[in-house]
Parts: sequence; C-alpha cells; structure tokens
Amino acid sequence: MLPVPRVLAWNEPSLWGFARRTMTVPIAKLSFWGVRGSTPTVDPATWRYGGNTPCLELIAPDGTQIILDCGTGLRMLGSRWAAPNGGKTPETHILVTHYHWDHIQGIPFFSPLYVENNEFHFYSFRSKFLGRDSLKQVFEAQMALPYFPVDMSAMNAKRKFKEVDGGESFTVGENNVTARWLNHPQGCLGFRIETPAGIVAYATDNEPGDAKLDESLRELAAGADIFINDAQFTPEQLETTRKGWGHSSWLEGARVARQAEAKTLVLFHHDPDSTDRMVDSILRQAREEFDSVFAASEGMVVTLGAPGDRVQAHMPGTRTALRREAQFQAKVCGVTEGGKDFEEETVVRDISLQGALISLKHMPRLQSELQVTMETPGADGVQSMNLRGYVVRIDAGAEKGHVAVGVVFTD
Ligand SMILES: [Zn+2]
Ligand SMILES: [Zn+2]
Repeated sequence: MLPVPRVLAWNEPSLWGFARRTMTVPIAKLSFWGVRGSTPTVDPATWRYGGNTPCLELIAPDGTQIILDCGTGLRMLGSRWAAPNGGKTPETHILVTHYHWDHIQGIPFFSPLYVENNEFHFYSFRSKFLGRDSLKQVFEAQMALPYFPVDMSAMNAKRKFKEVDGGESFTVGENNVTARWLNHPQGCLGFRIETPAGIVAYATDNEPGDAKLDESLRELAAGADIFINDAQFTPEQLETTRKGWGHSSWLEGARVARQAEAKTLVLFHHDPDSTDRMVDSILRQAREEFDSVFAASEGMVVTLGAPGDRVQAHMPGTRTALRREAQFQAKVCGVTEGGKDFEEETVVRDISLQGALISLKHMPRLQSELQVTMETPGADGVQSMNLRGYVVRIDAGAEKGHVAVGVVFTD
C-alpha cells in the first residue's frame, strides 16, 4: 500500500492547538472618556486634551468591560454604547474611586443605566460620612428631587453594589483587581487591574507625603504596563499654594513610575485651569524625567499586549478638528522618536482648521454663516479649499474701511 501524505483537517486537535497559540494574542483596550479633574471645562483653550471629568473604560482580553470612575466622560461612553463582549456577557463592572463630584457626576446621564437588560456591578468603599451602601446612597442623593427630574426607579438596568476596602483583591472575569487607599480628603481608592494582556494601575486623586500611602501607591504601580497618576498641579504649586488639596504632580508621577518600575506613565486629572499649552509643557518636562509618558487626552486609546510594542497609544482623530486637503510647501523641524533633532522639506496635504481672522470690507452679521473659499498653491498647482464658518467676532480692521472678522469653521 502506498503511503498517503498526511494532511491535517481543520477539526484535528493538533491544528487547533497551533491555531489557538498563534492567533489569540491577549489584547486589552483602555479608552479615556474623561481626563479633567475637579470640574468639567468647555473653554476652547482646554479643548484638545478635553474637558470631561474622569471616566476610563478597559476591555480585557476575555471581553470583560471595566469602567473606572463616573465623571462626565461617562455620558459620552453611554452615547457610544456597545453591549460588552458583543452581548455575550452583558454585565459591566464599574469601579468608583471616591465620591467627589468629578467622579460621580456622569451617573444620572449614563443612558445604559435606563435599559432593562443591562447589568452593572458597582464597586466602591464605605464612606464614614455615609455608612452602609455608600455608593447606592450617592446614586439616590444625586437623583433626589429637585436635583434631577426623575428618581432612581427610572433606572431599569440591574445594579449590584459591592463594598471594597483598601488592601482587598477580587477577580472580575479572568482579571484580578486590587484596591489600595490613597491620600485624599475623605478617602480615595486606587485600583490595579491585572489582565492577561498587561497591568493597568489607576491612581487618581492622591497627594504624596504620607509614607504609608506612598508605599500603597508604589504597590499599585509595581511593574504596571500603564500607570495612570494624578498630575493636577505643578511641582511648585504642590509645595506651596496647593499643598493639602489632595493632588499630585508630573514630577511625583515620574518618581513613582521609576521607583515602581512602571513601563508607561499617563498624566491624568488635569487642572481645569490648565490650558492645552500648559499640559503640553507639563508633558514635555515629564518626558525629560521618564522615558515613556503620555498626557491623558479625551478619546485616547491605549492597547496593551499588541505584538511588537507592549503598549500602543492612539490619539483621537476627531479632536484634531475640521480637516481639509491642501498643498502647502513646508519645512518641518522636530525631534525623532530616538530624541534627535531633524529638519525636512515636505508638502502638507491635510490640514486641520478651527478658525481664521479675515479682513473684509463688508460687515457680516455677528453669529451668521460665512462661506470661505481659499486658494492653496502647492506642488501640483492651485487647489481650492471650501469652508463654512460662523462669525464669532468683529473688530476694527487694520486697513482703513475694513473689519477684522473672527470665524470658527464648522463644516
Ligand atoms: Zn477628582
Ligand atoms: Zn477628589
């Protein structure tokens, strides 16, 4: 009998074993829905990093959905809601660090809480100011009349509340969660979430200087792939005018990240008075102290466990404003990933536009619409760029008989 060449069928166990090993790399996805501390901001100067208060979402490799804090960013998460794990495990786990407004204010506006089939497991600590079922009481108080038009009975989703204490660990799906006390007025918990794709440590609202709690923070951050730390104040503010306010700085974050051997530091809980440029400068300084640092940005997504890089961060395209194709000859100077200065001649083909100051002989009506067409000479000839704008200010023009018209582009 002739030997028959052996071909593996798809349902043979050895091939499945191989396929499983090579095809299922555990990946976790961490999304930032709110990154601002204390109170939301809608100031255009804070728009790039974002104005919503703390809310993060972690999708673990097993599909478990974990939400960290319920600041105003939670509303956005709710409006883009997709059933966790494709609806296979429709439950969501929500870890609440503490009860200050900026960490709970999104709750009444989180639409999935009003949908019957959803199931939410809330975890937070027993506050000495509230006693048993602290978080449940916070819900009720927030939605009590006359502060909110409907009460808790309108929330149809299943809600379960679990009290956790500093030092406690528990599992959620195949992920391990550890809680630790941090140094903050009326208490705050930090969380360490160990997933098969990597470790996320979330330590917002924490002031350094208490030896025992500083040690807790290092334990939370030990070897973490992502260490999210309170960076609300500058090191100078932290030592003077903001001492005792319960927050930290980029410098402390970098120090703890180094001590705890965390891999990537994320600066979080930006002060509402910190403009985008101030956060840029904080980030620049932090990068001089620690290798891998990002400033938390609304819409930022960090992937853990991806082949190649362990940590990949993606900035939100939607926050780069209105974009148009263009062709501008340009010289670009910058710094490479490796830290070298470079200079390069190129063509800018895609530009984002927020607004312009236009000199006009006509006086447009304030808050009316303007159609603006611009000619953009470039490498491949003249192109025209059409934009619709909205008149936001009118000043005396530099030229006689002209007005300076401030326009915000909308479309
Ligand atoms: Zn806060
Ligand atoms: Zn707080």
